[in-house]
Amino acid sequence: MSDNELIRIATHDAKGLTDQATAILKSEINKRGIGKELIEGAEAQNKEYTLEELLPYCNLISALNCPICGKSLEKLNATVTAQTISILIITNYEKRPRIGCPKCLKNKNISAAITTLVLGWWGIPWGQ
Ligand SMILES: [Zn+2]
Repeated sequence: MSDNELIRIATHDAKGLTDQATAILKSEINKRGIGKELIEGAEAQNKEYTLEELLPYCNLISALNCPICGKSLEKLNATVTAQTISILIITNYEKRPRIGCPKCLKNKNISAAITTLVLGWWGIPWGQ
């Protein structure tokens, strides 16, 4: 396995690895000397966080500019939008987490609701 593939696993695909696989991943990262941060990243993907641990990160993110409109007038928030598009017998249901300012999140929710109302209301079971 190449270093790049190992880095990709440690940074993106470590969630759900067995303890044995995680031990092998750590051992290989140490053996190759490609960065102890990779081990921390792999461990972070499998850790359960408490609200107290997450709060500083939430505060940090909520103070950033809105990723949708680029403005920083209000603190950012998060929501999940769900949208259904049905074409004949094919139904596409999309549920996405979104981060943005309250105005942009409201617009995204309205847009998803209108799209579902116009294009996906007959999709079973999500459009009903
Ligand atoms: Zn915005």
